[in-house]
Amino acid sequence: MCDPVDQGERRQRVDRPLDGVIGHTDAGLRAHLLGWNMAQFRVWDGIRAVDYLCSRHDIDAKRLGVSGFSGGGTLTAYLNLFDDRFATACPMAFITDFPSLAKGPGPQDPEQVIHGQLAFGLNHLALLTSAFPKPVCPGFSFDDFFPYAGSRATFALARERYASAGFADRIDCLECPGRHGWYESEQQGLVLWMRRWLNGDASALPFDRAALRSLDLNKGFEVFPDGEVLSGGVMSLPGERSVFDILRDEYVRLAAARGPLTPEIVRRVAGICEIIPDAPHASTVGVRIEDGFLSVSDGVSYDRGVKGYWYTRGGPREELAAMMSWRGANLVARQAEEIIRSAERSERRRPFVLRATRETAVAAAHAFYLRRDLFSAIELENPPPSWTSALEDPSVELRFADLVYGALKVYDWTDLIDCAMRKQAWPLIMVREAYGPIRAPERTKEVLALHRRYPGACDEMWLAHGAGACLEDVRTAFEKLASYRPILEDLGIAVGFQQGVTLGHQDIAAEAGGGLDGRIAAFPEDAWQRDDEGRVRRMFCPRSPALHEYEREYLKNLGETLSPESIWLDDDLRLGLGVPGCFCDRCLAAFSVMCGEPLSREKLVARLRGGAEKDPIRRVWRKFKSESLAEYCKVVRTAVDGWKAPPRLALQTVGSCEMGSGVDWFPALRALSGPGKRPVGVRAGHGNYCENFGELLPKLLWVARESERCRDVGFVASVAYEQENYRREILHKSVGAALIESALALFAGCDALTEYRWDAARDEPLQDCGEFLSGLEAWRPFYERVSRGILATRAAGLSRFVGSDVDLLSGDTIDVSTDDDLQRCGVPIAPDTAPKATVRYVDRWSLPAMNAADVQSLAEGRLVVDASVVDGLRDAYGAPVADALASGRWKAYPLARFRRSVNQLPTTAEWNELLDLLDEMGKVPVRLEYPRSFRIWPRVDDAGRLRALGVWNMSIGGVTPTVAKVAATGIARACSPDGKKVDIAINEGRMLIPALPAMGVLWIEFE
Ligand SMILES: [Zn+2]
Repeated sequence: MCDPVDQGERRQRVDRPLDGVIGHTDAGLRAHLLGWNMAQFRVWDGIRAVDYLCSRHDIDAKRLGVSGFSGGGTLTAYLNLFDDRFATACPMAFITDFPSLAKGPGPQDPEQVIHGQLAFGLNHLALLTSAFPKPVCPGFSFDDFFPYAGSRATFALARERYASAGFADRIDCLECPGRHGWYESEQQGLVLWMRRWLNGDASALPFDRAALRSLDLNKGFEVFPDGEVLSGGVMSLPGERSVFDILRDEYVRLAAARGPLTPEIVRRVAGICEIIPDAPHASTVGVRIEDGFLSVSDGVSYDRGVKGYWYTRGGPREELAAMMSWRGANLVARQAEEIIRSAERSERRRPFVLRATRETAVAAAHAFYLRRDLFSAIELENPPPSWTSALEDPSVELRFADLVYGALKVYDWTDLIDCAMRKQAWPLIMVREAYGPIRAPERTKEVLALHRRYPGACDEMWLAHGAGACLEDVRTAFEKLASYRPILEDLGIAVGFQQGVTLGHQDIAAEAGGGLDGRIAAFPEDAWQRDDEGRVRRMFCPRSPALHEYEREYLKNLGETLSPESIWLDDDLRLGLGVPGCFCDRCLAAFSVMCGEPLSREKLVARLRGGAEKDPIRRVWRKFKSESLAEYCKVVRTAVDGWKAPPRLALQTVGSCEMGSGVDWFPALRALSGPGKRPVGVRAGHGNYCENFGELLPKLLWVARESERCRDVGFVASVAYEQENYRREILHKSVGAALIESALALFAGCDALTEYRWDAARDEPLQDCGEFLSGLEAWRPFYERVSRGILATRAAGLSRFVGSDVDLLSGDTIDVSTDDDLQRCGVPIAPDTAPKATVRYVDRWSLPAMNAADVQSLAEGRLVVDASVVDGLRDAYGAPVADALASGRWKAYPLARFRRSVNQLPTTAEWNELLDLLDEMGKVPVRLEYPRSFRIWPRVDDAGRLRALGVWNMSIGGVTPTVAKVAATGIARACSPDGKKVDIAINEGRMLIPALPAMGVLWIEFE
């Protein structure tokens, strides 16, 4: 007879009395984390007990039988399976079946929950018949919590198996009325059974059931005396080790052998899918999305009484987790998938701050680690202990639902948060190395050596290559690029890749020998675009099968060599911006299908260029161009999904410079995102090549629009700014100007920066590069703070109504000068796509693009109308316009006054008149009493509350403190790039913006 762990004489912890089944659980959960099971200890105990028996002279090792009750019944079944020295077995009060357990009391002791046992076939029938055809006789009682119906079902199947092989006499069962107990009739019965099969006493069987039953009538179930009374327990023996000691030693051994942690490993160990299907099962997590937070709580609820042992440690969650373990699954994995899916499928702005309760903390940590693109931060309320702490200290209490089977071999759940915090999925500062890495390797190494001195200056380096060269040369170029990987890894810089392939930028022949590193590949004629007169243009047709095939091969080579962590498709992939699109026969045929009418090239061009004002074909053509790009992007997505570690994908858009033109980049972004809705990045904007802030302001407004609308689609994880300073010889920006411009780009709504500072292929002094990196590193904390604030807020201010028919107009773009001029005058401008806290206006650029539905939708709201278009609106739309003006919902104001011409710049009195009007209209969250040279970018939360304010002194001289009227109370905190922080009191809606040096920037956060 051998006692189970923490029962009888097997007390395990000297600091406390016998724990019984709790003791099994404490040890069993730890074993589970190591990929072991409590059953191992019990079976080993049994095997060693038999070893001892067999070593004795007075024991006949050929005639051994085994029996036990409840947990002993379990051990009996296991020993019958694992040790063939037994001639017969009588497992009492254990054998039933899994369906009855699942429907009834649920899983029981941890040694009865073997991870994945249903998946590999270890059910109760397998246990009962494991030693077939050796004799076996289980025992059942009618009201046992091991469900009797299941016991009978399993027994019937086992008996069938014995009988069909001619061994019907070798199987029987003992059963009696009553609850979970080892009844007298069963004890006597099993002695008879053992006499028959161990002693060959044929008279012992069959059972005389009536006689056996009568034995129970006067006998109750006896409680065994407590082992502690018998002795001090095994732990008082010298050199004795508890199961906790053994488990801890195993943990130490495994921990010493651990390798680096990767998402692949975590997914595999926990069983978390990479592409998560739509809701395949009932929800186990409650999810709430609000104000940039994704909050998760326990969602396990099912309406059934929990009768089993797991009740004592947390109810339905524990029971569900244990049942999932039977199948080889982890509840944590399912919950993590649900959290990821909720974030992926949400149309709200991402990334979220992930907030989790105690019950969801471990799952949230997994989701956070695997998807930093979805979550910017994690907050855990009362999290459970680390798994490691439980192995080190037996008194730490674990719950099954917080565990991942075998995970401690490779990680602890708390490691996931540490690792994720160390590595941003989407970088803050990216630096492009254009041609140097291929053309000037030695110089590039010098540049990389500089990066070592400024580790905060770069998170990801883009190695660049223009597609179009023959694949042999492509492969050679990629191998050269791959040689930098170890250096970059050593520097802690992620390896990014910028791919150019010109669909609408410039003739590829002009690039040959310039942009292309290699000989141009042989493309068939139909790979090229045709212009509007049908002439070949050496840019690729985005719908060309030959181009698609080339791109697949190109990316296959890239995956096999450099395998970058991100691919940024260059803005060569454009079909807008002056390039009217491809007019090849293939594209014309596809466009005709989309339009539902055959269109010749001449007819199409005539309608696009001239034709009727608001010709609907223009909208279809723009959609067609967007979808042509999407065809190409689809090829990219599918190709990289085949990689071992698929990279992040991102698109560099030029779309923002076509503000209001209706060119829509989202089909291309959606295609890059793919069916799994993987997050993608956007790099917005082009232009501003010089230290010229007049050129910069319109660019920032375009960028603001792009970032605002990109964040609304849900799957855009990062909006990066294109800082175009290229090469010193053609561009002229001081390091200081580039740093200020980067800060302004963040104010405008970007959360990341891409910097082109250096081209190692040019012979320019390294000192320039060093200064630049040193500046980026010094400003980094400021950028980080602003980027975090941007992700949690939205743009607000005065915004122009663009007009929904804008993409039917024949021109490609509409002017942004009014926005630009208004902002010059100190009016906060929000992009037309900002939905919160804005006052809208229409101007002469909006008018031609508006329609009756627009007027209808605007008529009930507040609107500022440029005085120059009031008549036009009234003439075109009559009553609704007149009503809105008469009621005061619409106010006419001479916005045209704010023009670029120096003579027409408004006076301070006129500024204030406009600002008063905006205040009256009610939604502008901040205004400056005297704008001077300030530009301001207010940011509001989902509820429209003012949360932050980017301030820039655009003047070449310093300015003194300035009063701002703000829709906020309490204290504001001003942060400057040099790390200084100043608290500012807000009194009666007014605060003082501190003095700013020339070109100085400031980030103000509100409580
Ligand atoms: Zn084409």
